[in-house]
Amino acid sequence: MQQTFNLYVHYPFCLRRCPYCAFYSTELTESEILRAYPDLIMRELDLRSPDWRGFLLKSIYFGGGTPSLMTAAEVSLIIAAILDRFTPVDNLEVSLEANPGTLSRNSIEDLIKTGINRLSLGLQSLSDERLSFLGRIHNKTEALKALADAKRFSKLKVSVDLMVGTPLEDTGSWDVEIDTLLPYRPDGISFYSLTLEEGTRLASRGQRGELVNLPVDATVDLLLHVAGKLAEAGYHHYEVSNWALPGSECRHNLHYWERGSYLGLGPSAHSFTGSRRSWNAASLQAYRAALEGNRLPPSESEDLNDDEIRMEWVYLKLRQAGGLDLEEYRIKFGDPPPYWQKIFERIGASGLGVYTGRSFKPNDRGLLLADEIALRILG
Ligand code: SF4
Repeated sequence: MQQTFNLYVHYPFCLRRCPYCAFYSTELTESEILRAYPDLIMRELDLRSPDWRGFLLKSIYFGGGTPSLMTAAEVSLIIAAILDRFTPVDNLEVSLEANPGTLSRNSIEDLIKTGINRLSLGLQSLSDERLSFLGRIHNKTEALKALADAKRFSKLKVSVDLMVGTPLEDTGSWDVEIDTLLPYRPDGISFYSLTLEEGTRLASRGQRGELVNLPVDATVDLLLHVAGKLAEAGYHHYEVSNWALPGSECRHNLHYWERGSYLGLGPSAHSFTGSRRSWNAASLQAYRAALEGNRLPPSESEDLNDDEIRMEWVYLKLRQAGGLDLEEYRIKFGDPPPYWQKIFERIGASGLGVYTGRSFKPNDRGLLLADEIALRILG
């Protein structure tokens, strides 16, 4: 079977940096680099594509930063350059992350014309108080307008990102937000836990004792409450942080969790071949200087040994509703350690999933505690 890969394009610009964000992006201060950026991406694509010859393209994903700041013409140019070099699978998924404060009905329509068929909307919250705490440029009304605009287009799958773990939440406030969201029927819903990432403004506030975010247990309880509501509304919990209507799972992300190969373009973008992970330096200046000299941007890499590959595989399986199939493990890595049976039995008995002797499938709670389960299995 022909090998497949995903292509990720990083767009490292935002209108304003959010105080919790640790992704590599820079605030828009001058337009010259913006105009030059798509050309830099295409130069990197040129230099890297020979290594991926013969691979089928499974998905294109524009992430950031705020890729919805790109013009449709720029998105179109990059997609055309990619499709010039690679053969796509049928039903190629082409996703773009969008900030609700940067979209209009017309801009969504223009993006669809370029081939975008999945929009990942960074709503983060449907509470003005929480949006202001998170320093977002949009409010609840704008978030709902962007969602309603995107849902008008039947060709487009629309997923939304929400953030959980601010000090302003309880089950009551989540009931209000979820009840507001569900009538719009987003195809996918992702929840990300707020963490105080080193170097962010929120982390500095945390260090000064000015804020405490929700403890992990409280976040898990809130998400379990939300999971019940989403299940009632027909959503399937298919990965730790992700729910979708049947058939609307994000194929780009599923490929990551199956340890599929990917090529990342742009400063800070990561690539993966199954045994080697590499990443471009998080510096727009260094990226530009290298590519304008027709050189690859500075990058680092690490090679995974057999045991690291095995542990990563187990960890990623435990993060998915499909769980871990012991026969699949045996084919890939040989007999599973004998002590696993007792551990899986105990995990199953403690209400975290179903162990049949041949496979372990986590339930909602098991998915939300996937890291803990992986620790018990992998030691
Ligand atoms: S959260 Fe998104 S919009 Fe905010 S700074 Fe990070 S990448 Fe930019």
